[in-house]
Amino acid sequence: TCGFVAIVGRPNVGKSTLMNRILGQKISITSRRPQTTRHQVMGIKTLEEKQFIYVDTPGMHIMSKDRNKAINRFMNQAATQALRDVDCVVFIIDRTRWTEEDQAVLKRLEHVKAPVILAVNKVDRLGEKGDLLPWLAEVGARRDFAAIVPISAKHGTQVDTLEEEVATHL
Ligand code: GDP
Ligand code: MG
Repeated sequence: TCGFVAIVGRPNVGKSTLMNRILGQKISITSRRPQTTRHQVMGIKTLEEKQFIYVDTPGMHIMSKDRNKAINRFMNQAATQALRDVDCVVFIIDRTRWTEEDQAVLKRLEHVKAPVILAVNKVDRLGEKGDLLPWLAEVGARRDFAAIVPISAKHGTQVDTLEEEVATHL
């Protein structure tokens, strides 16, 4: 079997880092500067008899107030297109905070029928803020997520668990 997996999230949450970690090579540009990836980046991974096509989806975070800029409109359309026929969505957030942009991305997922897995990234930075659990409960209640997986894309922590979870939806 073969499935499409969209990786979505606001800039800087670690989408490109996760793609690189999963695909095991530098194919996606990572940067501290938001919006480094203006185009979709795709990668294919084969695991046993399953083939996964991962798509790093920029432009999901664009809020209605800046929809009129041409570049934003373009990215918005690309992002919507990418979600049309996916088998699974990985929605990444940064453990350290939930922002308006995260909320905007979540809103864009409202009509997506594919299962959405919440990946809470940067858990290696856990010590910088309080308990993860109450925060996870609060964020996890914002949608009926197929699963919630805390990860560190940078260090590879629990990325295999996330991949296994994705595999159950293909
Ligand atoms: P994107 O904009 O969502 O594609 O985010 P990037 O993958 O470019 O990552 C943005 C920044 O967050 C970079 O400086 C990454 O090194 C950093 N980053 C990504 N994943 C992690 C993680 O698991 N832990 C920590 N501490 N930093 C991370
Ligand atoms: Mg990126």
